[in-house]
Amino acid sequence: MSARNDPRYDVLFEPVRIGPVVARNRFFQVPHCNGMGWTQPRALAALRGIKAEGGWAVVSTEEVEIHPSGDCEPFHEGRLWTDEDIPALALMADKVHEHGALAAIELTHHGASCSNHGTREVPLSPSHRPIIYHAPVQARAMNKRDIREFRQWHRDGALRAKRAGFDLVYVYASHGLSLLTHFLQRSKNDRTDEYGGSLENRARLLREVIEDTKEAIGDRCAVAVRFAVDELSGQQGICSDGEGREVIEMLADLPDLWDVNISGWVNDSQTSRFAKEGYQEEYTRFVKSVTRKPVVGVGRFTSPDTMVSQVRRGVLDFIGAARPSIADPFLPKKLQEGRLEDIRECIGCNICVSSDYSSSNLRCTQNPTMGEEWRRGWHPERIAPRGSDGTVLVVGAGPAGLEAALAAAQRGYEVHLSEASTELGGRVVREAALPGLREWIRVRDWRVGQLAKLTNVHIYRDSALEVATILEFEARHVAIATGARWRRDGVGRENGYPIEGFADSGVVLTPDDLMDGRAPESPVIIFDDDHYYMGGVLAERCVEAGLTVTLVTPASVPSAWTANTLEALPIARKLARLGVTVLPNTNITGFSKGRALLVSQLTGAVSQREARSLITVTARLPNDSLYLELATRRDRVYRVGDCYGPGTIQAAVYSGHKFARELDTTPTVHVRRELPLGIEA
Ligand code: ADP
Ligand code: SF4
Repeated sequence: MSARNDPRYDVLFEPVRIGPVVARNRFFQVPHCNGMGWTQPRALAALRGIKAEGGWAVVSTEEVEIHPSGDCEPFHEGRLWTDEDIPALALMADKVHEHGALAAIELTHHGASCSNHGTREVPLSPSHRPIIYHAPVQARAMNKRDIREFRQWHRDGALRAKRAGFDLVYVYASHGLSLLTHFLQRSKNDRTDEYGGSLENRARLLREVIEDTKEAIGDRCAVAVRFAVDELSGQQGICSDGEGREVIEMLADLPDLWDVNISGWVNDSQTSRFAKEGYQEEYTRFVKSVTRKPVVGVGRFTSPDTMVSQVRRGVLDFIGAARPSIADPFLPKKLQEGRLEDIRECIGCNICVSSDYSSSNLRCTQNPTMGEEWRRGWHPERIAPRGSDGTVLVVGAGPAGLEAALAAAQRGYEVHLSEASTELGGRVVREAALPGLREWIRVRDWRVGQLAKLTNVHIYRDSALEVATILEFEARHVAIATGARWRRDGVGRENGYPIEGFADSGVVLTPDDLMDGRAPESPVIIFDDDHYYMGGVLAERCVEAGLTVTLVTPASVPSAWTANTLEALPIARKLARLGVTVLPNTNITGFSKGRALLVSQLTGAVSQREARSLITVTARLPNDSLYLELATRRDRVYRVGDCYGPGTIQAAVYSGHKFARELDTTPTVHVRRELPLGIEA
């Protein structure tokens, strides 16, 4: 049911004053990384501008370095080292202003969090310490002159930010990543001068920098502090019933706004597998009781009722969002227009986070246009009209097929979507039934909901199409989105040849077998040579079924790639808690008579391990026979999603979207390139 003009949500659209500026509503896009940073200012300006267009009242940058001694390379963050950096950031502020929002900038010096890989400067820290990221580099203890210089750099950064047009300037003390946090942390600060020892002393630099910033730009710009009230390490660290609370009490009304969260990033941006919407409230709810200044907080908020509840109960003044604003840059506008069902809800998978770790354009499972606004000209809510009158036939209704059908239909094509099974959603339906992945079903639900609104889409369930039927159909364009299946032969990253005894053993199962309902028998070995979530998730499922599980992986930790989605540690902890035996750095080279042949990759030692079921999670093969046959019989037939190249759900959605965008155009692999400012792109 539509909630058009629903007065329940009015409170979210009240303007709120932040020092000298006024936010038009309570929707606040907090700073978030994007993999682009200083390397792609035009692309970032377009990305942030679209958030402003979508109704966010405040749109922030990511972390912006203020000095070469705090250089985040190889990560691409913002950069404001000198006046020469002002024009690039001004592009973003201008775009945000074009749509009536406030532009915020998060100034930061990374101190002992960065190795200064680019500038080769020795990192700075309150005391001598190794840097946080695992590089063989130490930060040196700052002397008083260093501290004075740091204050000057921050002040210069604030003045430059003001000249670039920003309305809010952040002082950053969160995620355990900022020099100001390191001064606060007892574990990193053993100074004996007035900047060490008591909490008051350790908070001195934070206080001074807030005061400096207010003094420098406070006449026109608001000063925000981003502060992690809890590091989840108990009383020995900063915690919300200890020093985290005391810092806020000490500085209560000094900044114009508190942006509060928990730290480090692994705790702040937890996936839906490990935390539910609003998970930070228990740590941050005290803040409003100790300050009169507005408070913003995050918690992967996508439900309007939860948002209203946060405000009404006095937990937050602003609904802070990074991921929900990535999944749907138009979330506020849709809510204001009563279009709740159109909101593309974040699924909490953290594929967006992996863009920062890979220093590549931001991407999102739910929003295929994210990061492509400038270089491909994609807008999340607008799409070019169709390029011909012909019909489009999409075969397969997984994430790729659903997205292809939706985007093609939005372009105005007459679309026919045929799905072999009764249920739409393909792999998403199957995977969302696995432990912890329930929210992933939103990938299907949103698309099915949007398709239902269109009159030019015809959906056929229980309709497995064959070559002859497709040829008879005479559609102008045919997209084959028939997905992929997990291999049974063990070929993967480590083993380039089929593993002896796998394919014909009768006890070797694939993830598809389990998702089809096959029950493995104890003891189970899971061979994870895929390294993303599937191996670990199946281990959980087998333990839930009461089975004894050993997870064997050639990687050094289970689900190794999930380090890029901030999940590697929580997954390892969970498997340990569940009693799963993990054998890292181990390959499987054969299976016979109920025993797997294990080879240690460290010593070469060979051993055997019993398994009544062996689940092999190595790689997938595309279901492309339909495509290959059709391609010899007609033109304008395309593969999309896993059928083209098995990958993530995000990649499948993107592939389906790209197919639809490019219909009746001449596709090119060359996208618009960012050239240095001053050289036209
Ligand atoms: P992707 O991730 O690329 O979208 P999925 O595996 O999730 O791929 O989805 C593929 C979908 O295609 C499944 O729902 C499957 O039932 C459907 N499918 C496979 N073969 C056919 C076919 N011949 N006709 C119609 N649907 C098919
Ligand atoms: Fe949410 Fe996943 Fe998109 Fe990130 S990539 S915004 S977690 S749906």
